[in-house]
Amino acid sequence: MVARRSPFGYNERMHELSVAQSMMSVALENAAANNAKKILRIALVVGKLSGVSVDALRFAFDAVKADTIANGAALVIEETAADARCGACGNGFEAGQYDFLCPACGAPVFPTGGNELYVKELEIE
Ligand SMILES: [Zn+2]
Repeated sequence: MVARRSPFGYNERMHELSVAQSMMSVALENAAANNAKKILRIALVVGKLSGVSVDALRFAFDAVKADTIANGAALVIEETAADARCGACGNGFEAGQYDFLCPACGAPVFPTGGNELYVKELEIE
């Protein structure tokens, strides 16, 4: 984890800042394409395996939205579970970050969810 002291007076994680910046450009491009004057709400999907801290992402969003038409926008974050499926018996379950074996038969599993990281929805006016 790389952290720096920001001019805003809190430690922010650089990773989440760059994620917030790229998500904000997606939101602003979409808003511009729809002739929006304001972004009221931004809904994100963040998977548990995406490597992004939701708290750090919220802080980062507050920083990047400040001088944009999204400055009053509410941020809604939907976290998706780290779902996995067994390659041998087909058992599907919610895995922890380091669960690689099927709890039913012990065979290796592969992830089927949890890496999501995208802008799901915008509310504009
Ligand atoms: Zn299995």
